[in-house]
Amino acid sequence: MQRTLAGRQTDVLFDLSDYPQAPARPGEAAPLPEQQQQDDRKPRYEAASRIKRLAMSHHEQQAMGWTPEQVADHRTSMADARIALCIAIGNTVNDIDPASGYSTSRTSYDNARNSWIRLIKSHGFSAMYEQAPLTQARAFWAERRPQYLAGDDWLAAGLVAHRAYWLPLGRPCNRPTCDEHATTEGVR
Ligand SMILES: [Zn+2]
Repeated sequence: MQRTLAGRQTDVLFDLSDYPQAPARPGEAAPLPEQQQQDDRKPRYEAASRIKRLAMSHHEQQAMGWTPEQVADHRTSMADARIALCIAIGNTVNDIDPASGYSTSRTSYDNARNSWIRLIKSHGFSAMYEQAPLTQARAFWAERRPQYLAGDDWLAAGLVAHRAYWLPLGRPCNRPTCDEHATTEGVR
């Protein structure tokens, strides 16, 4: 399957409006913007660029000695920028979380879900490392779109994919901290 660069860029812009997904695999970098076909995408790029310019971790804010007021202002600016991107990519008002600016569309839910399943398929799952961010990601949707989450167990789906991926190879996965394979000598 071949995806066009333009198609991938659209995905990247969607991703920026989505609640943080599973960590990207090492070495997987986002593609650089291309110069052509800019006109109809200009509002998206502008909104995405603003998010990238504003982005700053909590750790960086602490290191710079930000006051609580500065942190709150920054959070508001980030939410505004995400809302602008959501509008630019065509979200309805109902599919934008007003407090955070993250997209709550079904597409964004599927993006988040699939990113976790892809991660678990490749790397397995460690409760120690991944349970907290997974719980946090699901909590975002449980609060805003519980109907999407109903009966949809991301971890179970990811582990099914992980086992199916490694079973034909006849050995446990390469990750020492994978809960699925840590206690087994062979393959389940
Ligand atoms: Zn494993």
